[in-house]
Amino acid sequence: MLKKMMLAAIVCLLAGTGCAFSQKPQEASAPTAPSVPEAPRQKEPEISRPPVVDKPLAFTEKRSRLMREYSRIHYGTEMETIVPEAVVVHWTASDSQEGVYQFFYAEESPRLSHGTLNVASHYLVGKDGSIWQLTPETALNRHAIGLNWCSIGIENVGGVDGVEDLTQAQLDANIRLISYLHRKYPTITYVLGHYQQDQAMETDLWKENIKGYYHGKIDPGPKFMKGLQEALEKEGLHFL
Ligand SMILES: [Zn+2]
Repeated sequence: MLKKMMLAAIVCLLAGTGCAFSQKPQEASAPTAPSVPEAPRQKEPEISRPPVVDKPLAFTEKRSRLMREYSRIHYGTEMETIVPEAVVVHWTASDSQEGVYQFFYAEESPRLSHGTLNVASHYLVGKDGSIWQLTPETALNRHAIGLNWCSIGIENVGGVDGVEDLTQAQLDANIRLISYLHRKYPTITYVLGHYQQDQAMETDLWKENIKGYYHGKIDPGPKFMKGLQEALEKEGLHFL
């Protein structure tokens, strides 16, 4: 306690302001000395995390093995974790958050080629803006060809038949989430929509060993990306 008080006294001295630990009795405010407003305290920037619901996918040794297999095939190196450099934004082309969760849940999907690691994103955002976290942020997930080795994936429920119907609540949730991720991982410099993969191919973000392994994409639509860009570009994030 004594140590704590001494420390507090030192802090008070350095700060040069009144403080509860001050040994001197507080003087009544002198009428001739106008009080100087205290300078705002410099605080470490806080990383405020938006509300997130944990909804983990099956995450066993089997998933680890399939991650290593996928990355060996596509990147020539065995990886289970990533250093995130980008966020790739998607829509699910489905209207059910729970349905997408179930679709992503299993580690393996035998119908897939070039590795059978199941598709999955790190986050899944419902139409009401609720954010579900499905895997650790640094897990290697299969959500975007060419970009899985370096990107966090956010899926948004919606986009059935290609209709740009993502909601304002989803936009707000994505902005908060990406802003949080950017501050948590300073290595993140890019945000792109999945449909912008062609432009991503021209950057260092793109890696793909399988020639011709490519699926055309339209998600999550330019309207949603424009909303993200308007809100996040000023934080120093780059858009394609
Ligand atoms: Zn997508």
